[in-house]
Amino acid sequence: MIVILKNGATDEQIDHVIRRVEAIGLQSHLSRGTFRTIIGLIGDESLVNKESLSTLPGVAQVIPVLPPYKLASREAHPESSVIDVSGVKIGGGNLGMIAGPCSVEDRDRMMRIAESVCQSGANVFRGGAYKPRTSPYAFQGLGEEGLKILREVGDRFGMPVVTEVTDPRNVELVSQYADMLQVGARNMQNFVLLTEVGKSRRPVLLKRGMSATIADLLMSAEYILSEGNSNVVLCERGVKGFDPATRNLFDVAAVPVVQGLTHLPIIVDPSHATGRPDLIPPCALAGLAAGADGVHIEVHDCPEEAKSDGPQALLPEQYKQISHQMRLMADLLGKTISPLAKDAGGPTPPQPPTEALA
Ligand code: PEP
Ligand code: MN
Repeated sequence: MIVILKNGATDEQIDHVIRRVEAIGLQSHLSRGTFRTIIGLIGDESLVNKESLSTLPGVAQVIPVLPPYKLASREAHPESSVIDVSGVKIGGGNLGMIAGPCSVEDRDRMMRIAESVCQSGANVFRGGAYKPRTSPYAFQGLGEEGLKILREVGDRFGMPVVTEVTDPRNVELVSQYADMLQVGARNMQNFVLLTEVGKSRRPVLLKRGMSATIADLLMSAEYILSEGNSNVVLCERGVKGFDPATRNLFDVAAVPVVQGLTHLPIIVDPSHATGRPDLIPPCALAGLAAGADGVHIEVHDCPEEAKSDGPQALLPEQYKQISHQMRLMADLLGKTISPLAKDAGGPTPPQPPTEALA
């Protein structure tokens, strides 16, 4: 950590800062320049309270040298992490291709959509059973009934399933059915929820909040990691912009920025980022070209009947086309679309307790 003193800071003020630093067990290194004096702090930065140091008389700025997201940072873990979602690897050159409808709907429809995206090469099936909706009158999801359908569909096609958990009280229930827990944009800073998914052993898909900075996203990941769950995949899904031409502003540069700062994989979600089916294919490819570790796309066989996010859904046929292009892009980049465990000869997805399916 570096303490920059104000122009004209007195010797007394400088001595006071040094005494405070040494009192907490750190060493200090004073450097007097022509215009500025700085004090370098040597030792365990976590002992320092940056805010209280900033309030000392004569202090202009306190700059941490290490990022506050200790476990998520690349310094802590230089190698890119590879997250295993019931046999499907995401990160380190392995691409996670997540596809499925916004909401879990009736069983037959889910089977049809899953069959089609699976044939197109998706390796994780998605669908929300608990939907965070702006309006309390909008469809809220099928709840546990939806989880049962999702599990059945996943087992039928040997695909791991990811679904959103919106309430800390439901983490255990959702974990009984899902291979991966999604924390949605609206809940990215629900710290109680982050702590609960951190206690779970299920991999987590953590979506960037619509007004969250990259540092905010990484601090939220830190909540999960600090509880002992290191299986976190980040997701760039667009941030609030000023232009209603797209639903959100797709921050494609966030992908390489995040990868420079953390070892955790990051995937892109062009569906929520753009809200427009015509923009999803180019943005999916742009995300991969920028280095994303996977792509998350909403697919529905009859968007006009979809219970949520119908206007942004790709038709199964459209998903097939973009999947083909994503595969070509993956080849070009020397990356692998992770095979399903059943195709790779690995273990099959964990089964929920039998009473959960009863
Ligand atoms: C979703 O995945 O359906 C969803 C609600 O996403 P987000 O949290 O990114 O809006
Ligand atoms: Mn959605």
